[in-house]
Amino acid sequence: MPDTGDILRLENLEVHFPIQGGLFDRVLGRPAGVVRAVDGIDLTIGHGEIVALVGESGSGKTTVGRVITKLAQPTAGRLLFEGADMTSVRGLSALRPYRHHVQMIFQDAYQALNSRHTVFDIVAEPLRSLRLVENDAQLTERVSEALAAAGLNPPGDFFARFPHELSGGQRQRVVIAGALAVRPELIVADEPVSMLDVSIRAQILQVLVDLRDKHNMALLFITHDLPLAWLIADRIAVLYLGKLVEIGSADEITFNPRHPYTVALRDATPQIHTDADRSKLPALQGEVPSAARVPKGCRFHPRCPLAFDRCRQDEPPAIEVGPQHLSACWLAN
Ligand code: SF4
Repeated sequence: MPDTGDILRLENLEVHFPIQGGLFDRVLGRPAGVVRAVDGIDLTIGHGEIVALVGESGSGKTTVGRVITKLAQPTAGRLLFEGADMTSVRGLSALRPYRHHVQMIFQDAYQALNSRHTVFDIVAEPLRSLRLVENDAQLTERVSEALAAAGLNPPGDFFARFPHELSGGQRQRVVIAGALAVRPELIVADEPVSMLDVSIRAQILQVLVDLRDKHNMALLFITHDLPLAWLIADRIAVLYLGKLVEIGSADEITFNPRHPYTVALRDATPQIHTDADRSKLPALQGEVPSAARVPKGCRFHPRCPLAFDRCRQDEPPAIEVGPQHLSACWLAN
């Protein structure tokens, strides 16, 4: 993994949403509660590094991606890009340079693409809106380059096509090409292959890894799928109910997990364990509870088969359990 320092740093990042209650609360302008979607996370991504953010639905991982791409505003904490504090930067023109460097790939390619635009116009749109080209020849060259990098060859064959004329895999490649066209330094990919056939997934993952290898592009890969995270990532961060509960190298998190939640995710996926590795813990039951009702103490305790009294009272800190491997569990050591 090429490592030349951090490109992105999240410091104690929080995203809380107020819940509006009944009429009385609304008249008084009083929130009825707070959804703690992201609740104080620290995370770094290095130049050319692939970090996977793993968690179930409701864990807050998409909200983290939206904050990084400036589609959501944090309630507290800091977002640093190349050392510059971007937390409070807002507005189209102020964000233009940032959007040039940081792009997002969405899960649902069909929704992400404007069905009335051709592939050429879809990929050209960020180049035009960020004013990154000076003439039509440059525009055609950059669109061709992005389509080719996303594996759509020969690029000219796709220029005049509309999204409905493409397969699911080709549509996702167009989404990737749109993000690549501006030559970003960091891409946030939110479940980019979860809606694709298994046979297409490997090809799309390979496109993303190639981009890192050729252009030293960093990637935050958001997924619920631990085996996929292991396949693509250098490091894996596990998110539960708005908190990072474990972080470490992809191999450590996958084959030596130290948090019961990560163990449960690993046990649920036979692709990455043998029966000998499998823990004797019962399978994970139920779903992530609402972020409007975060339990006291360790937030995983209502689902944790190992919970004991202290877990219901005190929130465990992240403890170093190996080189660059942190786990937030009282039993981690
Ligand atoms: Fe389970 Fe307690 Fe560890 Fe939380 S701190 S994961 S409840 S053992």
